Amino acid sequence: MSSNKIYAEAGVKLSDLVRVSIENNLTGLEWAAGIPGTVGGAVAVNASAFGEEMKNLVSDIKRYKNIILSVELKLKKNAQKNLIKKYFTYRRQTQPLDYPSAGCIFKNPSQLGNKMGAAPFSRGLPPLSPLPAGYLIDQCGLKEKKIGQAMISEKHANFIVNCGPLRRGASGAKAKDVIKLIQLIKKTVQKKFNLDLEEEIEYLPKRARQSRSPIG
Ligand SMILES: Cc1cc2nc3c(=O)[nH]c(=O)nc-3n(C[C@H](O)[C@H](O)[C@H](O)COP(=O)(O)OP(=O)(O)OC[C@H]3O[C@@H](n4cnc5c(N)ncnc54)[C@H](O)[C@@H]3O)c2cc1C
Repeated sequence: MSSNKIYAEAGVKLSDLVRVSIENNLTGLEWAAGIPGTVGGAVAVNASAFGEEMKNLVSDIKRYKNIILSVELKLKKNAQKNLIKKYFTYRRQTQPLDYPSAGCIFKNPSQLGNKMGAAPFSRGLPPLSPLPAGYLIDQCGLKEKKIGQAMISEKHANFIVNCGPLRRGASGAKAKDVIKLIQLIKKTVQKKFNLDLEEEIEYLPKRARQSRSPIG
């Protein structure tokens, strides 16, 4: 820490970084409270929420080849603790946090990609603002569609949740079921809205999956 700057190694949990920033009366990272993962991951994918994004805070990055080793963030004085509560409440109300998930599956598509022109569902949004993928999926009637133990969330249709038991060795959602749901969503949204949804998540090769997770 130095004045308004905060330094973190890439493996630090993003939630710990948010906590330390608040403890030191620094503002700028409140929006990141509740985003799972590490600081390195958040910088690599440019994590964002509530109109804020990681790249706007980063003042320095130390790398080895393409691996982020540590980052320095430039924040401002006067932590806004009340914002954290507000954002957490919003997440609880709108996201299926009681079930495991990978977060949002799809990026919100640009209206430019909408070959049908301004569709009724985009009314009220500025012309170039992204369309919420969750809303499009909901409009296709796909909420609660289940394959195996993988289900399109009833609370937020851009989340696919694992409804299975979480005991180690128990049979939960399989990667192949999640992939089938993703394909179903893409096909249905394309047919209804003539829009191609693009994944926000990344696919890992099978070998990498097996070394990271007991389920899959
Ligand atoms: C319930 C829930 C809510 C979420 N809400 C949000 C949200 O509001 N906003 C948002 O942006 N995301 C959100 N996410 C997504 C998720 O938290 C991010 O993708 C996370 O920031 C990725 O960090 P990670 O450490 O898990 O990285 P990983 O998932 O391990 O990796 C993600 C990518 O970053 C790369 N990477 C990771 N670490 C490094 C490093 N040190 N150097 C170089 N590359 C690296 C990996 O190679 C990979 O390509 C949410 C997820 C869940 C489950």
